Amino acid sequence: MREFNFTNPSTLDEASKILKTSDSSSALLAGGTDLLSLIKHEIIDPENLVNIKNLNGFDKIVYRKGEGLKLGALVRISDIAEHQIIKDKFTVLSDAASVIASPQLRNMGTIGGNLCQRPRCWYYREEFDCIRKGGDICYAYLGKNKYHCIVGGGPCYIVHPSDTAVALTALDAKVTIYSNGDYKSIPIQEFFILPEVNYLKENVLEPGEIVTEIFIPEPKADVKSKYIKFMERNAWDFAVVSVASVMNLSNGKISSGKLAWGGVAPVPWQEEQLNQKMSGLSIDDNSVEEFSKSLFENSEPLEHNEYKLILAKNLTKRIIKEIAAD
Ligand SMILES: Cc1cc2nc3c(=O)[nH]c(=O)nc-3n(C[C@H](O)[C@H](O)[C@H](O)COP(=O)(O)OP(=O)(O)OC[C@H]3O[C@@H](n4cnc5c(N)ncnc54)[C@H](O)[C@@H]3O)c2cc1C
Ligand code: SF4
Repeated sequence: MREFNFTNPSTLDEASKILKTSDSSSALLAGGTDLLSLIKHEIIDPENLVNIKNLNGFDKIVYRKGEGLKLGALVRISDIAEHQIIKDKFTVLSDAASVIASPQLRNMGTIGGNLCQRPRCWYYREEFDCIRKGGDICYAYLGKNKYHCIVGGGPCYIVHPSDTAVALTALDAKVTIYSNGDYKSIPIQEFFILPEVNYLKENVLEPGEIVTEIFIPEPKADVKSKYIKFMERNAWDFAVVSVASVMNLSNGKISSGKLAWGGVAPVPWQEEQLNQKMSGLSIDDNSVEEFSKSLFENSEPLEHNEYKLILAKNLTKRIIKEIAAD
């Protein structure tokens, strides 16, 4: 690991300018739980680390009835998992936050860092110069691809590692970005990008742009939501497949609903036609079974991961039934 400069900017603008205009390579540091490991394993090699942890005002959770929930980018994962209003009104998000990594990592990791963490593909994390690192080959495509994507892949086949991103997608969250002295807010569905758009990065952020806040609109009255994560080790592990759902029910039917999946695609995966199909769906075994058969019609599993398709369908059936039974 080579030496790096460590800067502690006191304003967002200062941080952004260093990240954008520095002659040498720079990286933004929040909780450091992912970034420091990337540096230690020489996957990235920044000359400047720009620490934003000391910036004021970005570690707040603010809920306004009728408007929604604002999470500063420096809010810790553990604070999201434990917040009573989030547990009550945005259950899918507290569910997702509470199953991330370990208590220690949840105490250090921030929501901004969780959304912007880099992929866990084992070739990427080891010494392989694959496409995502600027090389010519995706080693996973014909290699060990048990944990890779079944939909949305090519030329890189990562899955997005963040649990909160999946929950926030089902909640139709917006991401606020500080950019060139101003703020812009974009739907979370537009924040993440597929490898076919750019296989060198996972989101739209350009140099100098910083995530400052996540906004979740007030849910409809009587909404129910949940996150289910399937892990191989059942603790301290990333999702093999996960599903988030937000639903309104009336008279044994879903009146409106949103679904999003993790572990299946390079971005948190959502299909608008499936959300539409949920409206009016009866919560009986046959209807839910039929609905699950229509999932991921465009999936293209790799040699070792077809099981994810079955898993995703079964988790989806389970989440619909569990929400209905709650
Ligand atoms: C053993 C282990 C298990 C894990 N398991 C899970 C899991 O099950 N589920 C899960 O979701 N995650 C998991 N993680 C990932 C963990 O949640 C992330 O490491 C953490 O959330 C990142 O937050 P951080 O504040 O530490 O980010 P950092 O490490 O500081 O930053 C991560 C990346 O995001 C960028 N970044 C950070 N903040 C911002 C911002 N505000 N604007 C723009 N860019 C930013 C950084 O530049 C860096 O590239 C695991 C990590 C480890 C080490
Ligand atoms: S899936 Fe992506 S990150 Fe993994 S080896 Fe292929 S190109 Fe690299």
